[in-house]
Amino acid sequence: MSTETHPNGTPPHLMPLPAAPPRSAASGTRVVTRGAVIVPTQGKGFTGKCGFDYNLNPAIGCRFGCSYCYAANFTQDKAPEGLAWGQWTTLKAQSGAAISQHAPLGGKSIYMSTATDPYQPAEKEARITRGILEALALPKHQGVTLVVQTRSPLVVRDTELLLDIHRHGLVQVNMSVTTDSEGVRKHFEPTCPPIETRLQAVAQLVAAGVQCAVTVTPMLPLEDPLAFAARLAGLHLNSVVIQPFHEVQTQMGVRSTRSEALDTLAAMKLTPEDIKVQARVLWKELRRLGMNVGANQEGFNVPERQVR
Ligand code: SF4
Repeated sequence: MSTETHPNGTPPHLMPLPAAPPRSAASGTRVVTRGAVIVPTQGKGFTGKCGFDYNLNPAIGCRFGCSYCYAANFTQDKAPEGLAWGQWTTLKAQSGAAISQHAPLGGKSIYMSTATDPYQPAEKEARITRGILEALALPKHQGVTLVVQTRSPLVVRDTELLLDIHRHGLVQVNMSVTTDSEGVRKHFEPTCPPIETRLQAVAQLVAAGVQCAVTVTPMLPLEDPLAFAARLAGLHLNSVVIQPFHEVQTQMGVRSTRSEALDTLAAMKLTPEDIKVQARVLWKELRRLGMNVGANQEGFNVPERQVR
């Protein structure tokens, strides 16, 4: 990491960057009634290797449009013409019906979602993810394990349904909190909810009895790793997962950080190696504070019930 500092003492990675490029206001939200909602992993892919039986995606595309999102690498060919990643999403209106008609899912584990955020902005009105939870709460699916991966405080709306499913199975909400710095967030994921609202959502969920983890994935530059660790330690989480940028092209780019994010990092005069250094500091401090910390794939394994 560069030791250069701004005259006002700002650490180099938090020096102001040029304004993030404006995003199109074009409406790219469509609704369809076809396409697979829940797909068996058959032990393959990232979630399959983590032990999940199914991937569940209530949409293709994601209006959060994070600059590093690897999902853009394999879904952009489904984009409406002329719309870039983050400017479109195709909601699967049949999701709830598909789950309610599915063979019993008790004893099975589901990861929602691998290629979209189940609580992206359109969910507020569309309530498609809510329909999925209502279906998973049916008696026929008792005993299911569900991980909900999101960046959105909107998940709090469905607290009662999450608790219903957890009563006979297991639910864990994985909240992605990629940095402790709003300045950094605005450059890598400007359309996502602010960091503080995500942490407050986790606090609300935990207070209501919902099992939660925070996934610092992919980890972006941090302002104060020690203070961030202390904040996370105060949330009574089941675990924290830390995963620095995927900097290497793999599987034809499928699980790779997009160049847009790597360019932003370079503009901060930082490298993926600098983030790894901060990741080690965060990991060590969380462990010192008694937290259950997972790194990379191991951190995403099917969770067990948290003992409080
Ligand atoms: S919220 Fe998730 S799926 Fe959506 S753009 Fe960001 S990383 Fe990709």
